[in-house]
Amino acid sequence: MFKRTLFEQDHEILRHQVADFLDAQVVPDHASWAASRKAPRAIWQQAGAAGLLCRTIPQEYGGHGGDFRQSVVIIEEIAKRRLCGILTFLQSDIVAPYLHRLGSDHQRQEYLPGLCSGQRIGAVALTEPQGGSDLHQISCQAESDGDEIILTGQKTHISNGSEADIIIVAARSAGARGTSGQAESFDMVLVEAGTEGLLRSRIDKTGMPALDTSHLRFDGCRIPKGNLLGASGMGFFYLVSFLSIERLVLAIYAQAMMEALLKETVKLCNMRKSAHGSTLDYQATQFRLADLYSDAIANRSFVDSCIADHVAGRLDNRNACIAKLRSTELLGRVAAAKLQLSGARGFCADSAEEATRDVVDSAVQTVWGGSSEVMRNVIGSSLVNIL
Ligand SMILES: Cc1cc2nc3c(=O)[nH]c(=O)nc-3n(C[C@H](O)[C@H](O)[C@H](O)COP(=O)(O)OP(=O)(O)OC[C@H]3O[C@@H](n4cnc5c(N)ncnc54)[C@H](O)[C@@H]3O)c2cc1C
Repeated sequence: MFKRTLFEQDHEILRHQVADFLDAQVVPDHASWAASRKAPRAIWQQAGAAGLLCRTIPQEYGGHGGDFRQSVVIIEEIAKRRLCGILTFLQSDIVAPYLHRLGSDHQRQEYLPGLCSGQRIGAVALTEPQGGSDLHQISCQAESDGDEIILTGQKTHISNGSEADIIIVAARSAGARGTSGQAESFDMVLVEAGTEGLLRSRIDKTGMPALDTSHLRFDGCRIPKGNLLGASGMGFFYLVSFLSIERLVLAIYAQAMMEALLKETVKLCNMRKSAHGSTLDYQATQFRLADLYSDAIANRSFVDSCIADHVAGRLDNRNACIAKLRSTELLGRVAAAKLQLSGARGFCADSAEEATRDVVDSAVQTVWGGSSEVMRNVIGSSLVNIL
């Protein structure tokens, strides 16, 4: 679609390995995972053994010591196939880096090897039932009690939530209040599977059904203080410092899925016979696809520049928000075009051109990791700095 300059030969070799693994081990079973609302645990270990996990984590902790472009290759191959049952980026590019950057030596040794091999599954729990957009609303409480933290509250829509062995939970340090204008005091607490008082229930979603998405309750869970990640009270600062990378990985996923959908749309229009050739010969179709293709190419260039900035350690949060906003909204437009141009076959679950699933899966992406409105808030409120 676009000649990219981001990758080297090693990345392309990895791309082939990842593609082979996904086509053999994931694609054939993905529909059954969607039916059971989760992927089997074994697939995480297989993915780890095939080198799909934690590419940027140092080798001493079981990772590959690679650069972020290796993660990009894996995210893109998963997105191209519209897979969501095993979202490696959550484990590799969010949970493991949290642990690597904030964890003590003991925590790194204890948890990172399992995340890298896929023996352990990780999750991050920020969103609560009363709203995920405004992190100031977090009400989950972490109360200090001797050598322990007592965790009380609820989290919702947590990816990998039911299956996770380690959950990084953002909770308000006891006594801290959420009134805006006051200094926020949050803790990041590592909660392990099997902790007494941890209750989980899977959410039945229409979009991305193969992804385990769960509701979590912490009923006075007693967590050893050794499971505090980073310094007590610094959680909000940590959350904010990780938002750019979260937004970038979601942009990378959306952009790659969008490019795949656009190609499929051109293909299906080209194959659909009309009185004068194919439906691709209609000028109306060409204009619509020309607009989408032009936007896709321009956005690809921008997303790649953000990836290069992240590799160079200078990714700007506003640019990460622009990348997420534009990629996810463009994905929605492409999915809607594919459905329209497929005609009635687009609505049929047994049709090769079934496109309703893409529309719903796309709609998830303008919401998760911060909705489009929140991205616009961040971009808009920073504009004074460009004067
Ligand atoms: C498939 C999936 C996986 C997810 N995985 C995780 C996970 O692993 N961990 C986790 O913590 N969370 C996760 N989430 C939750 C996700 O991050 C939240 O859904 C998201 O942050 C939005 O929060 P909300 O759903 O509570 O919507 P709300 O905050 O209630 O917002 C609803 C809508 O109100 C509008 N709105 C909200 N705030 C503003 C504003 N300031 N200005 C203008 N309009 C606004 C927007 O239209 C927004 O979409 C996941 C969600 C999904 C769907």
